[in-house]
Amino acid sequence: MKLLPLPAFADNYIWMLQSSQGAIVVDPGDADPVLQALQRTGLPLRAILVTHHHGDHVGGVQALRQATGANVFGPAREAIPEPFTPLSDGDVLVLLGLRFQVLDIPGHTAGHIAFYCDQAPGGPLLLCGDTLFSGGCGRLFEGTPAQMLASLDRLAALADDTRLCCAHEYTLSNLQFARAIEPGNAALQAYSQHCAQLRASARPTLPSQLALERQINPFLRVRLPAVARAACAFDPSVDSAAPVSVFAALRRWKNEFR
Ligand code: ZN
Ligand code: FE
Repeated sequence: MKLLPLPAFADNYIWMLQSSQGAIVVDPGDADPVLQALQRTGLPLRAILVTHHHGDHVGGVQALRQATGANVFGPAREAIPEPFTPLSDGDVLVLLGLRFQVLDIPGHTAGHIAFYCDQAPGGPLLLCGDTLFSGGCGRLFEGTPAQMLASLDRLAALADDTRLCCAHEYTLSNLQFARAIEPGNAALQAYSQHCAQLRASARPTLPSQLALERQINPFLRVRLPAVARAACAFDPSVDSAAPVSVFAALRRWKNEFR
């Protein structure tokens, strides 16, 4: 089993999972990198998975379907290029001999879903689109802070060794913001250096690990006093005892952070 982040556009990753049975891809915003990878390996494409409806995640779906005949699976509550199999919370897919569980994680978009596989060789896999990033989280385009925080809490409760496969290389800028929130977090400092080295040699910072994200990602740490204090310093009207209030302030702060 091989897990590959195929770079697309400026900072997207199209995740590809390969086994002797074939390949699957997640969020192909562009068909070309996927077709090239299939050609290199000679593997058939078994399925196209989609987490949400944004163009940088679905732009290559039609072309890939036409070129490969692969079936498309996507969120039941969003408009994905038809035809596709609609999925919602609790649904299970078996692909490449592995079980993938569907999780509803609204917030970035109203119907955003994730795929979780706890049987993958090398550790559980979480394919979560634009909801949880390494060191950060997606913008709230269609959801409320309460929805997004509930979705992030749900992802954060998955197994420690879960490999986080998100759809963008936003890690360095996320970590810059995270250090402004928690300047005294030693794990965050070490991880920032590690990621800076990876990027300096043009390597992806992903997948990340969930246990690590719980230590360094401020959006998973809104219940910590240091994080709540930082949110209050940004916006004194924040209720530091209310995680949703802290989360909402961090998200607003990140939107304007440079
Ligand atoms: Zn998106
Ligand atoms: Fe995106």
